[in-house]
Amino acid sequence: MALSTGRTAKSLLEVLVAREYGFCIGVKKAVELAQKVAEEAGESGRSVWTLGPLIHNRRVVNDLARRGIRTASGLADVPPGDILILPSHGAPPELLAEARAKGVSVRDATCPLVRKVQDAARSLCREGYTVIVVGDPSHTEVRSVVGWASGPVHVVESPEEVGDLTLEGKVAVVSQTTQRPETVRRVVERLREMAMDVRVEPTLCHVTSRRQEEMRELAQKVDVLVVVGGRQSANTKKLVDIGRESGKPVYHVESAQDIDPSWFNKGDTVGVAAGTSTPDWVTEEVVARMEEINENTEAQDKEGKAASPGAGPEEAAEPGAEPAQEAQVIPPLPKAGDTVTGTVVKVSPEEILVDIGYKTEGILPPSELGRRFVSDPSEVVKEGEVIDALIVRIDDEGRPVLSRRRVAEEQAWRRLEEAHREGLTIEAPVTSKVKGGLVADVGTRGFIPASQVGLEYIEDLSGYVGKTLKVKVIEVDRGDRRVILSEKKALEEERERQRQAVLESLEEGEIREGEVKRVTDYGAFVDIGGIDGLLHVSEMSWKRVNDPREVVKEGDRIQVCVLKVDREKERVSLGLKQVGPDPWAEAVKQFPVGSIVEGRVVSVVDFGAFVELTEGVEGLVHISQLAPRRVAHPSEVVEVGDRVRVKVLKVNPKERRISLSIREAEQEMDRRQIKKFLKEARKDSVVTIGDVVGDLLQGANLGGPEKDGEPDKD
Ligand code: SF4
Repeated sequence: MALSTGRTAKSLLEVLVAREYGFCIGVKKAVELAQKVAEEAGESGRSVWTLGPLIHNRRVVNDLARRGIRTASGLADVPPGDILILPSHGAPPELLAEARAKGVSVRDATCPLVRKVQDAARSLCREGYTVIVVGDPSHTEVRSVVGWASGPVHVVESPEEVGDLTLEGKVAVVSQTTQRPETVRRVVERLREMAMDVRVEPTLCHVTSRRQEEMRELAQKVDVLVVVGGRQSANTKKLVDIGRESGKPVYHVESAQDIDPSWFNKGDTVGVAAGTSTPDWVTEEVVARMEEINENTEAQDKEGKAASPGAGPEEAAEPGAEPAQEAQVIPPLPKAGDTVTGTVVKVSPEEILVDIGYKTEGILPPSELGRRFVSDPSEVVKEGEVIDALIVRIDDEGRPVLSRRRVAEEQAWRRLEEAHREGLTIEAPVTSKVKGGLVADVGTRGFIPASQVGLEYIEDLSGYVGKTLKVKVIEVDRGDRRVILSEKKALEEERERQRQAVLESLEEGEIREGEVKRVTDYGAFVDIGGIDGLLHVSEMSWKRVNDPREVVKEGDRIQVCVLKVDREKERVSLGLKQVGPDPWAEAVKQFPVGSIVEGRVVSVVDFGAFVELTEGVEGLVHISQLAPRRVAHPSEVVEVGDRVRVKVLKVNPKERRISLSIREAEQEMDRRQIKKFLKEARKDSVVTIGDVVGDLLQGANLGGPEKDGEPDKD
C-alpha cells in the first residue's frame, strides 16, 4: 500500500513513506481468521485463545481482546472444548498433538511462508541433512521450525556462532523468514570455509526482503527515519537495524503518540517505514502526526516564535517546491529466466495473477501450473498461496509471464540428480503399468522395471497403480529425459537398516517375537524384525526333539529368547525352551535322592539307557545299574518305549543330570516286599519265613541300614 505525502509549500518537514506498508499476507490472514473465529465462537459460547500474542503488535492484540480473544501463556491455560488459534509464526507439531489430545480445537493461522520453512526443515532432516536454522532461537517461528525438524538441527544467529558447532555429514541451511539475506549468506560462507557441503533452501520471506531493500534505499534519501511497528516484531527490528547502518537517526515507534517533535529539525526529510504486523491505519496516523507537527510549526512561525521543531538550521520550505513525492523504492525489474516467489492474488479459468513484488503482477497461464492438465485452476492453486515461478518472458504490456510447471520440473530434475548422486530414497506415485514395468510421476516420468519392483519377482504389477513407492534413482539423464527407479534397492536398504538397528538393540536374555522363516534338520531361522536368528533344535524344548518340524513350522509367530549376539559376524542364537518354565528348577523337589519313580526309556546307548521322568527331565541308567547281573549291552535289558521303575541315585540340577538305577529300584522293591511279609508273618507264627519269602531272599540285601546306592558312572 502506498501513501502519497511530501513537502508542500508550507511544509517544514518532508515525509517520504515506503511504497509498501500495512499487513503482509501472513499477518492479514491470521488477523482475519481470528476475527472470524471470534465471531463464530461468540454464538457457540466457546472461548477463543491465542498462545501469546497472535502477532507482534500491541494495538492489534488489544483490538482482538476486545472481540473476546484471550491470550494464554501456555496450553495449560486453555480448557478442553475451547478454540486455540496458532500464530502466523507457527507452532511445533508436539503442541498441536497435545492440544488435540486435550480436546482443544485448533485453528491454524501459520503463514504459508513459515510453513514452507517448517516443511523444508522436516524434509531435509528426513533426507539425512543436519539442518542449520539462521534466526533468533527464542523467536516463536524458529522454535516451531526446530520442532518440525525431525533430526539434528542447530540454530545460529550469526556466522560467528557457526564455529562453535560440531558438524558431520551433509549440512543444509534454512532461515527464519525475516532474516537479512546478508546474514544468511555469511553463515553459508562460514560453513563452506569449514569445508562443509552445504545445501541452501531459499526460505526468506519475499515481503520482508522487499521491505528491507526499500528501507535501505529510503535511508539514502532522508535525514531521519521513523519505523512503525511492535517492539517485539522481528521484522520491524530488522528495519530499525538497517536504518541505523545508514548512520541516520532512527526512531522506533508503535503509534503516532510516541512521536516527539524534538526529533526533527526544520526542513528535515523524514522517511517512514513499517513492519509487516503494523496495520496500515497506524502508519497513516503516524504520517498524519507529521503533518500536524508541520502545521503547528508553521503557526508558531507566524506568531514569530522560535523555529520548531528541533533546533536545526533554519530552512523554510521553498515556495513552489516540488509536489508531493512518493517514495518509489522499487526493486529492479525482473527479466526472463529469473525465478521469483510470489503470492497468488487472483485465480480465474483464463489466468492466475501473482504478486511477485513488482509494479505489475505476473500472469500464470493455467497450462503452466503443472505437468497435468487442469480444467479448473482453483482446484490446484488458491488465492493467498505462495508459489515459486519462472519468468518465461515479459509480454508487450510489460507483464511478466510465469510458469510454475518449469520451476517444478527444474526442481524435480535437481532433486532426482541429487537423489541419484547421494543415494537418497524418494517417493514415487505410480501412475500406470506398462510393458516391462511401472511408470511413476517424480516431477517427470520415471520408469520402474519389473525386476526392480519388490524384493522378489512379481508377476502381476497391476496392484501397484495408484500406490506411492519408496524408490532409489538408479539412472538419471536430463538430456534424454530418462529416469530409472528401483523399489528393490530401497527395500534392500531399508531391510539392511532395520537389520543393523535390531542387531544394535538386541540384548542377551531378552524375549522377542519373531516369525519362523525356514525350518531345517538342525533348527529353524526366525525373523526377529529384520534379522534372522538361528533357533537350534537343542534349544527348542526341554524334552528331546528329533526333528525341528515337530515343534515349529514356517510362518509360525513365536516368542524366542535371545541367547547370544555376535555383532561382528551378525549372528544371533535364539532359544524357545527358555521362554517357558524350566522343569529342572523343580527336579530336586520332584525327584529326591532315594525315591523310586517311574519313567519311559527314550534312548538306549552303549553305556546305558536314558529314561524320561517328566517332560524335559531325563536321567541316565548306567549299564552297571540296569540289572543285578553282568550286562553286555543295555539292549539286553531295555528298549526304547519301555516303562521302567528306577531309583534316583543322584541329582545335579546345575548340570541337568540325574543318575538312576533299575537294579537298585528292583532290590528296593524286593526289600519292601520282604519287610511287609515279615511283618505279617510275625502276626501269624504258623507260617515260616521260608514259606512266605521263598526265592525272594535270593539277591536281596537284608543286612545293615538302608543306604542310597552310588552309581558306578554317570
Ligand atoms: S512477514 Fe512474511 S513470513 Fe512473516 S507472516 Fe508476513 S508474509 Fe509470512
